[in-house]
Amino acid sequence: MKRLLLSLALANLLPYTAFAGETPVAPNISFDQLLSHLTAAPAETAVIPEPSAERAAYSPEEAGRYWVTVEAADKRARTRLLEAGLDIVEINKDSVSGVAGAYTLGQLSSKAFTVLSKTTLAQRAFSVTKDFPAGDAAYHNFRETTDLLREMAAKNPDIASLFSIGKTVEGRDIWCLRINSGAKGTAVSAKPGALYIGNHHAREHLSNEVPLLLAAWLLEHRNDADIKTYINGLDIYIIPMLNPDGAENDIKTGSYQYYRKNMSVNADKSRGVDLNRNYDSWWCEAGASNYPGADTYCGPKAFSEPESQAVKKFIEARRNLKTHISYHSYASEILYPWGGSDADVPSVKDRQVFEKVGAEMGKLTGYRSYKSSEMYVATGDSCDWAYAAAGIFAFTFELEGRGFYPGAAIITGAVARNIKAAVYLLSVTDNPYKAI
Ligand SMILES: [Zn+2]
Repeated sequence: MKRLLLSLALANLLPYTAFAGETPVAPNISFDQLLSHLTAAPAETAVIPEPSAERAAYSPEEAGRYWVTVEAADKRARTRLLEAGLDIVEINKDSVSGVAGAYTLGQLSSKAFTVLSKTTLAQRAFSVTKDFPAGDAAYHNFRETTDLLREMAAKNPDIASLFSIGKTVEGRDIWCLRINSGAKGTAVSAKPGALYIGNHHAREHLSNEVPLLLAAWLLEHRNDADIKTYINGLDIYIIPMLNPDGAENDIKTGSYQYYRKNMSVNADKSRGVDLNRNYDSWWCEAGASNYPGADTYCGPKAFSEPESQAVKKFIEARRNLKTHISYHSYASEILYPWGGSDADVPSVKDRQVFEKVGAEMGKLTGYRSYKSSEMYVATGDSCDWAYAAAGIFAFTFELEGRGFYPGAAIITGAVARNIKAAVYLLSVTDNPYKAI
């Protein structure tokens, strides 16, 4: 990966404004320019502004929601907390921290959990974000993501195509950029396939940036010998923003909402289903909540949501898919099946592939790789489903960072590290078993 490092070191320092506010996309955008933009001074239009210390009032979405730390010594305790509706964000040795609304707070007391501390999300936003660099405009909102994907496809018509895999609850397109030298759009391909998805969870904005910029990097480096081989031999799909409704909702007021779910209106009028609890893999059996207002709400049934349904149809229609990364944030971890069961996957060979490929990607990112259910058991997970239903070697990446809103300065390094891992995955996609 010397080439990547060199490329990053030589990042073009020309002024670049293609993604600032309403400025049209530059005709000759390059990956290096993108990166230099990400590290440049903030644009005049703050697309994802940092929560302001001067803010007088907090949004209704934040009202009544808390950042709590609860005693939890092992994964059984963590799984029970997920079922109580707690959105576990940080795991410590004897406790976890995360987001809870009124219902979950009630559960925590009625079920005799030990709540160690509790602070409103608004207070936490204040304390966490006061040191942020004022550069979050570099993150791509839905319109900018769409524009950039269109630009990539338009500039590389021989190998790239863009199509929608379905519509969200609010009618936005779920865009998929395909890189394949022999097939366009939804045409079938016999080449082994790799799939990268970001943004199951609304506020995990870095999980959109990584696959989006991975696509830009692959196209920029399309003539490198190894990348050329992958583009000719593989069928590569990149869906950076699976949950654009949620992502837009998270930034719509100018203050971050800590919003996780999609935008479904539930039976009790609460909003949102946790898309990564909605897949049909031990659906809602453990580590998920039946309560619609909870952050870990699994939905009224498996695949009840248009976004998860779109992924289901996409994967079922493409039996050539072999490998997959689903990006989340944050923990610096690589997780593989099962997440919904304590058991190992039954095939010893497959388990070895997960361990080996996960470990290799761990070396390239500095992330820790392990079986997902070692952290806690959570059912309805996309990667469990993709492996069980389609035999895809599917990895969940919890990207780096010390919060959901780590600022724009983190993007360049996270993207660079994760390109290495994503390209390694391409190198084994023709036959993942060759890794062992
Ligand atoms: Zn997530």
